Amino acid sequence: MKILIDNGHGLDTPGKRSPDGTLIEAIYTRQLAKRIVVDLQDRGYDAELLVPEEDDISLAERVRRVNTACFLLDKQNVILISIHVNAAGNGTQWMNATGWSCYTTKGHTLSDTLATCLYQSARHTLKGKAIRTDYARDGDPDWEENFYILRHTHCPAVLIENFFMDNKQDLAYLLSQEGRRAIAETIIDGIERCVLTLLSG
Ligand SMILES: [Zn+2]
Repeated sequence: MKILIDNGHGLDTPGKRSPDGTLIEAIYTRQLAKRIVVDLQDRGYDAELLVPEEDDISLAERVRRVNTACFLLDKQNVILISIHVNAAGNGTQWMNATGWSCYTTKGHTLSDTLATCLYQSARHTLKGKAIRTDYARDGDPDWEENFYILRHTHCPAVLIENFFMDNKQDLAYLLSQEGRRAIAETIIDGIERCVLTLLSG
């Protein structure tokens, strides 16, 4: 199973930072993605950064890379996790929205299995933190949104919004060692659960 970890944006992406400038999404998600890839490799998984470059690689190119892996390895043998940090406003002021959430495309696919595994792990590793769910639409905890990278890739794919960089409490947690460790652990543990489910299913 090839595990591709995408960090949301490039350093040259405008905006995408906390109102006080202490968190820049591109840098934060890149550190998180690297940490997750190294940890998964240590555990023996075939994990890889989708975007090793520092600058912003277009969504079309990201999709092309994922689908090349799907073509070479078969789409059942690839999963994609795109890592982001959420924002409720435009980055200039503090907002109230809080919590962790995971998105799939509309409709039921193996991506929903991946998302459900990530939610199961989030409930353990992010104890006491807000976990944002959307059971109303299809009975799954995940949110459904036809994000470009999810819609155009052929393998199971999710996009994770790790808390809100424009919420003061979320930001403090995001920047803390405890928060960084718990967020990485959530994603690593969720991937492990998913790989076991897909291999046994
Ligand atoms: Zn983002």
